[in-house]
Amino acid sequence: MAGLQTYVAKRDFSKTREPRGARAKTRGNAFVIQKHAARRLHYDFRLELDGVLKSWAVTKGPSLVPGDKRLAVEVEDHPIDYQEFEGTIPKGQYGGGTVQVWDRGVWAPHGDARKGLAKGKLDFELAGEKLQGLWHLVRMRSSGGEKRNNWLLIKARDAAARERDEPDILEEHPESVLSGRSIDEIAADKKSKVWQSSRAQDGGTETPAKAAKRATREQRQTNKAEED
Ligand code: MN
Repeated sequence: MAGLQTYVAKRDFSKTREPRGARAKTRGNAFVIQKHAARRLHYDFRLELDGVLKSWAVTKGPSLVPGDKRLAVEVEDHPIDYQEFEGTIPKGQYGGGTVQVWDRGVWAPHGDARKGLAKGKLDFELAGEKLQGLWHLVRMRSSGGEKRNNWLLIKARDAAARERDEPDILEEHPESVLSGRSIDEIAADKKSKVWQSSRAQDGGTETPAKAAKRATREQRQTNKAEED
């Protein structure tokens, strides 16, 4: 899915403070991984390409062990601004839950990235704060029934790879590269929650007490819109 139509359609920007965004005119090579405590915890892996962030939801998160094949479900392109987003998406909104910027840096494809994505095999280098070296994204054959494309994210064997008995990078470095905070600390940041709630409600004049009451009410609502 190219472009940001799906991203915009899924979100109510009067209720979430995720960036609305637009396809960027500049061409960069950023990557970001956002730990996302939605209904199910996952890590969103995003590569900047042609003015958007190509995105995959990696259920178990990346592994530095070359034998680990981590399921990476292709999701909608996100705006470039999204790489800066850290905070809590309100309950009841798409992807409701807390987002942490777990890693970021730059990436470089081996060969043409567009061709690689089209044929379902992308080899690329990451130069992040936590992840480095050569990686593979490999699209799995569709059995026809899935709504989205499933890929596998695999670390190549190189100096940045680890053996299975070495520490898990997800546990070794759980902190945000943006703020140093744990995902629980971000979730507990009441100030940012009230701020986004008041923006949604009445343009910023809502009192903290009112906002807290409404947040509790919203938390009780069932959450059908939430992503996997
Ligand atoms: Mn997500």
